[in-house]
Amino acid sequence: MPYCLSDSDGLHVRSILSFLGKDVIFPVLAWSDMTKENKVIPIQLDDGKVVEAVFYGSGTLCLSTQVGCVVGCPFCASGAKGFFRHLTFDEMMTQIEVATNLCTPERITLSGIGEPLHNWDVTKQLIEDFALPVSVTTTGSPLKHLRKLLQLPHNGVMLSLHSAIEATHKQLIPRGPSCEGLLQTLKEAWPTLSRNKKRKLGINYLLIDGINDSQQELDAMADVMRSFPEVTLHLLLCNTVEHATFRSPPDERLQEIHQFFRDQDIHCRRANSWRRKEDGGCGTLMVRGLQGISEKTVAS
Ligand code: SF4
Repeated sequence: MPYCLSDSDGLHVRSILSFLGKDVIFPVLAWSDMTKENKVIPIQLDDGKVVEAVFYGSGTLCLSTQVGCVVGCPFCASGAKGFFRHLTFDEMMTQIEVATNLCTPERITLSGIGEPLHNWDVTKQLIEDFALPVSVTTTGSPLKHLRKLLQLPHNGVMLSLHSAIEATHKQLIPRGPSCEGLLQTLKEAWPTLSRNKKRKLGINYLLIDGINDSQQELDAMADVMRSFPEVTLHLLLCNTVEHATFRSPPDERLQEIHQFFRDQDIHCRRANSWRRKEDGGCGTLMVRGLQGISEKTVAS
């Protein structure tokens, strides 16, 4: 069974998760700290690999769904070492149980390491069976699972679409679906979705200086958003990760971009304060403990 690694700082105590029959070591943190700060929670698996979950001070617990990722987004540390395997349902539950010893999650998001739709059976089971609301961040790969996901009782689907121009999209999400395929899938599903479901959809637009922040890029994204008026456009910031040189545009430009979409009557939000923290941004979670383990390159 997997267990939580002890943190290097803080006083440590031992707790027993009876359902696992396993000792779990975790740092004692003042309650006020846990509610104000993001907390990265490393989870060691039976085979020695380590994945990470994050508790956001907002009450959202972000879980990983895979050890590594095959999609290969160049701004992301989570898939930088390739793909190794899917997490099992038990391992997903362990992330939740370990986190629950440290904090009180109000909702779950599958936005950590991995592409949730590649681990489809586990993702589907969590959305359908888990007591807390579950949202998903996805590149939409594979599209056949995206079609099914849109119909499930999810608490939100955030589509990663960092450019509406095909060449830029391919550069930023190299092994995801094409922009055209993704939007076509959404168009086909659109008439079947209730208004409530439509309002739970979002497009994540990770802004990267000099790559997808030109006026041509903004115009293309605005065209997409006009086709899906209930959908929210989330402007995300790029975090600094190892081996990647991408940066978000300066604050002044971010403000201009936000204003541009608002002027177009597009429902647009900037990253919340939890996501703006160094340990809360897109692509910062890491797989650890990989020495001597061979990488797989193809996810199912
Ligand atoms: S951003 Fe998501 S889909 Fe892209 S490589 Fe990272 S974990 Fe995979």
